[in-house]
Amino acid sequence: MTPLDEVQRLVVQACTPLAPVEVPAAEAVGCTLAADVVAAEDVPPWPNTGMDGVAVRAADTPGRLRVVGYLPAGADPAGMAVGAGQAIRIMTGAPMPEGADAVVPVEDLRPGQPEDDEVEALIGVQPGRHVRPAGGDAAAGEVVLPAGAEVTPGAVGVLASLGLATCSVVRRARVGVLSTGDELVEGSGPLRPGQIRESNRPALLATVRAEGFEAVDLGIVADDEAVIRAAIVEAAATCDAVLTTGGVSMGDADHVKGVLDELSGGTFRWFQVAIRPAKPFAFGTVAGTPVFGLPGNPVSCLVSFELFGRPGIRRRMGFAGERLWRPVVAAEAPDGLRRRPDGKLHLVRVATELVPQDDGHPVRWLVRERGSQASNALTAMAVADALALVPDGDGVPPGASVNCWLLR
Ligand code: AMP
Ligand code: MG
Repeated sequence: MTPLDEVQRLVVQACTPLAPVEVPAAEAVGCTLAADVVAAEDVPPWPNTGMDGVAVRAADTPGRLRVVGYLPAGADPAGMAVGAGQAIRIMTGAPMPEGADAVVPVEDLRPGQPEDDEVEALIGVQPGRHVRPAGGDAAAGEVVLPAGAEVTPGAVGVLASLGLATCSVVRRARVGVLSTGDELVEGSGPLRPGQIRESNRPALLATVRAEGFEAVDLGIVADDEAVIRAAIVEAAATCDAVLTTGGVSMGDADHVKGVLDELSGGTFRWFQVAIRPAKPFAFGTVAGTPVFGLPGNPVSCLVSFELFGRPGIRRRMGFAGERLWRPVVAAEAPDGLRRRPDGKLHLVRVATELVPQDDGHPVRWLVRERGSQASNALTAMAVADALALVPDGDGVPPGASVNCWLLR
């Protein structure tokens, strides 16, 4: 058996990043930037007020001031100026007028009417108070988002604030999903003896989409070497990663590993990973495209995707370092997580609960097993939102701590 981290390292290394493309900013969410985003202009473009109030000379405060103008957001301040003992009414986001160096907020003025031609600043302010300087958010020439960073919704806002309609990102991976098995049936019709309803492909396609990859449904393929070969050749030519399910165990009808071996030009590896579930796993690159031979058991299939497919495809999309992986949290297992020694790392499907603590204490994660842990028990997987990493041995005693990969 091969240790999990060794297999993960090998897979991630083989999943080289895809080429950059220029895309509309709104379509870039979930991709990584292929080049630094540099501000071509200052944001904000000119000094403006962060508060509703009056623009003043700081040295004149506190005290009574004569109102000489009104500046709402969007107004042009040209020709307006604040002289000694004067003030201009100003609304959040409006440009600072000539002569003013601070803003006294409405809250710090003696209550009055908008049309009053005098105001009284009840407090003294320092120069610069409530003034947002030009370039305070992004200065022209500054790298605002570095290459490699994920394009978040916030980043889309930044690009818009800079007037940038497009950005250069690592291409979104097209991920082909095909399942193998003569027993598999799609849809809700009656089952003949020996048949089962297929669940791996729908679950994988959903996962692939939820990860922000582009999903390509390649259908169900019969347990026939020639058919599997043709399907994998076609998939590798049209996709950036291929997920197959089934056919990687020890059985006579397990053709995927033989076909992958033949097609992958010496890059093929067939693993017995030292984990439970998801022990069998085949991997190789076909025409430069990584092909993940995931096991057929529904739970093993999804766990295997989580452990190998997700980080591998994320690397293809330009993620690196810890951003390849799920966050790990230390959680308490109130009921314990029992197991027997077998030389494997157990990935226990658990449901998490976040327990609020008294002020000043960190929150606590609790994890509990939900339902059967058998590798075909998909319902337990469906309600799990973390994988507890239970090392070889007798398990986690009640109340003890265990590291978990957060899937939520
Ligand atoms: P295999 O890895 O092909 O030997 O399949 C292992 C087990 O998983 C068998 O019980 C299969 O019937 C089941 N299985 C394989 N593929 C799927 C699938 N796509 N959906 C649901 N069950 C599957
Ligand atoms: Mg099969």
